This record gives sequence, C-alpha cells and structure tokens, in this order.
Amino acid sequence: MDEYRFCPRCGHPLERRRMGERERLVCPQCGFIFYVNPTPAAGTLVEDDGHVLLIRRAVPPRKGYWAFPAGYMEADESAEEAAIRETREETGLEVALDALLNVYSFEDSTHQRGVLILYRAHVVGGKLQPGDDAEDARWFAPHELPPREEIAFSTHWDALQRWLQARAVTYRLATEEDVPAIDELIRTHQQPRWDLQHYLHDPDHYLLVADDRGEIVGYAGLYISPENHEATIAHVFVHPHHRRWGIGSHLIEHAMRVARKAHVQLITTEVYAGNPGIVVYLKKGFEVCGMTMRPTGQEGRETTLTLCKVLK
Ligand SMILES: [Zn+2]
Repeated sequence: MDEYRFCPRCGHPLERRRMGERERLVCPQCGFIFYVNPTPAAGTLVEDDGHVLLIRRAVPPRKGYWAFPAGYMEADESAEEAAIRETREETGLEVALDALLNVYSFEDSTHQRGVLILYRAHVVGGKLQPGDDAEDARWFAPHELPPREEIAFSTHWDALQRWLQARAVTYRLATEEDVPAIDELIRTHQQPRWDLQHYLHDPDHYLLVADDRGEIVGYAGLYISPENHEATIAHVFVHPHHRRWGIGSHLIEHAMRVARKAHVQLITTEVYAGNPGIVVYLKKGFEVCGMTMRPTGQEGRETTLTLCKVLK
C-alpha cells in the first residue's frame, strides 16, 4: 500500500488518514480513497470418469506445482465466466459448471488476501492441451494424485481432500443395521418420517444409503410398482456437511440402476418447486411432467413438481 504515492485520478500526493478502524490512503485534493481489497479468483474442479483435472503451473506464484485450473477474475466477467475461461485457457477444455463447491480466503506470497471461488464442472468440448499458463494438464485418478508438497496451494489441497472423501462414499441397499443411523439423520435434521421397515422388507420397496466408510451420510427410497413397470424415488436426503459433492446425484443414479435391473420403463419423483435439488434430476435427464398445488393453511400454497424420466 505504501508504494502508491500519487492519486490515480488527479495526481496529487496521497495522505494517510484514519477512517473508522482502518488507515487508508486518501487524496486531499479530490477526495479519492485508495481501497485495498482482496482479489477474487475463480477455478474449477473438473471430474470425468472418476478422474480430476490438474494443471502444472507455468507462471509464479508456485511455478511448477500442480493446481486446479484457476485464475484472477477480469473486471468485466462473472465468477462463472472466469472459471470457464481459465479452464479453457489452461487446459484447452470447454467445461460447464455443476455447482459451487466452496469459497476460500487465502493469503498469497505478498501477504495480500485473495478469494478463490471454486466450482465443480464437467467437460463439454475441446481437447486436452496445456495452455500458456500451464506446463502440463492431466487427469488424475484418486490414487495417482500428486503428494501435498507438489500441490500449489493449501486451498486446492483442501478441495482435493474433500473430493477424495466424496469418492470414498459407496452406494448400496440398506440393511437392518443401518436403520438406527437413518433414524438419527431423520431426527437430527427434522426430516419427514417415513416407514423405513416397509422400505427395507417389502419386496417392491428399496431403501438405499450413501455410506462414507461406515457412516451413513445420505439415504433415498425407491418403490417399483409390479403392475406397470414404473418406479418412484422418494425421501432423498444428504447430510448438510456432505452436500455439493455429488452424493445426492449418486444416490439417484443408484436408484435408477436398481430400477433398470427390475425392467422399469418410467421413473418419477415429486419435488417441492423451491427445492434446489431439482437441478440434480434435470441433469440426469428428468423432465417436469406434472405440477400439484396444495393449500397450506392461511392463503399459503405449496407447489410440488412431478419429474419423470423414461429408462431405456
Ligand atoms: Zn485526487
């Protein structure tokens, strides 16, 4: 901050002035205040077939270290646009964003604060080829990831750890032993009660769980009608600490797999219109095929969408 001595607007020497809790550089001539703010950067965690995309940085800071495709935002672009652009420039790949993974504050080598906005993304085009800011760009399986000391930034390492954790989650049919843990999730997170025993034991019902190395972090119910080859997904829930990493999406995929095996042709689900989880279904090819509005007491109305997908 001390290196700036003249007002960029009128050229008058700047003065240090106390403003609230801060001392700032101010121009006594024209009133310009020199704010020093963290610089926002945006990047992507791109996943494809169980692999994650990393680049080896060709520019400082941390030249030669592995990192996510990421970079500082330009003044005229959104965080989403910056994340997509940086990925294209550094890897040659065109990506679409899936979800906001996290926002990290970090301190760079000059002790300036920065903010990294990291998105989960998937490839929609292009060809993998390291760009100007990258010496290399490669896909890594979980067991091939570079060690901590070869990762450029602690924020990127943190996100990679979260990715590995999510990768370790398995999806399976529940057993009687899982019921207390599911009950606990329902109670703790004030989820609607449903007949777990029925889903567990009735031959047309399936109780699915997401199992993170012994801890149940999500569940879903599936009903397959024996008459008309139709299936219904219900009660999908993921523990808040484990959201945004694709666990809900994998639970739905698992339900679709079970349904396919049972020769189901049409799978449906009902979702509240305001539920952001709708996006997960739409990405899996579900379409809105119905809408119900129910009164909820005093002039309130609750809209539920029916989403459908034809299984091949
Ligand atoms: Zn000035």
